[in-house]
Amino acid sequence: EIEVRDLHKSFGTNEVLRGIDLEIGQGEVVCVIGPSGSGKSTLLRCVNLLEEPTKGQVFVGGTELTDPDVDIDAVRRRIGMVFQQFNLFPHLSVTENLTLPQRRVLRRGKAEAGRVAAENLERVGLSEKAAAYPASLSGGQQQRVAIARALAMGPEVMLFDEPTSALDPELVGDVLAVMRMLADEGMTMMVVTHEMTFAREVADRVVFMDGGVIVEDGTPAEVIGNPSHERTRHFLSRLL
Ligand code: ATP
Ligand code: MG
Repeated sequence: EIEVRDLHKSFGTNEVLRGIDLEIGQGEVVCVIGPSGSGKSTLLRCVNLLEEPTKGQVFVGGTELTDPDVDIDAVRRRIGMVFQQFNLFPHLSVTENLTLPQRRVLRRGKAEAGRVAAENLERVGLSEKAAAYPASLSGGQQQRVAIARALAMGPEVMLFDEPTSALDPELVGDVLAVMRMLADEGMTMMVVTHEMTFAREVADRVVFMDGGVIVEDGTPAEVIGNPSHERTRHFLSRLL
């Protein structure tokens, strides 16, 4: 579903991604872990072309995003992205946050967009907040709205960049529960996270990045439970 081939990304002379090869099958959940600055966010941003790769190819659902002739807006609609900062529109209600992109980008009518918004608010357990404004919600609720907003676009794959890192510890669980539900429903997911319990329990595979390369790629039991590289062991020991 997602395929990355020999991906390189430089900012000026700083080579941040140094040849990434990664395949994520349909319905697979892959957690990406690694130290700060290792290139995790850059990799995620290259997968939906928020950053333009310097070299290499990215495929989503069989379409090559890095093909210069591709309609990038059309492809991006198939990819949902959730960031550390929730990026909700503060002047719009929760429902309007969900309907606006559907109407603008997908050209859905008001009734359909409203129905899809309601469905997805229910999925994340926030139906009762439909009329609320973001500022009146907790960080965890705002992040669940951001997830619902992405889901309302009907994405084939979901990318998450440290979705719980900005949250107070007691709010993390609700967001992870929503992500777990999506995984159980068969969503294809690429998740940058430091939540090792989530990675261990939910991920099909864990990828450890360091210095712009994938050092280790395997099951959670392999990469977290029994890492074969010293760099992975060192990273994990510092998380405990
Ligand atoms: P963190 O865990 O702190 O989020 P990360 O693994 O996500 O780190 P990236 O954000 O991908 O790391 O950054 C990798 C490197 O790329 C860093 O050295 C960073 O300074 C650099 N970098 C990222 N984005 C840009 C940019 N837009 N312009 C210049 N350099 C950038
Ligand atoms: Mg990052």
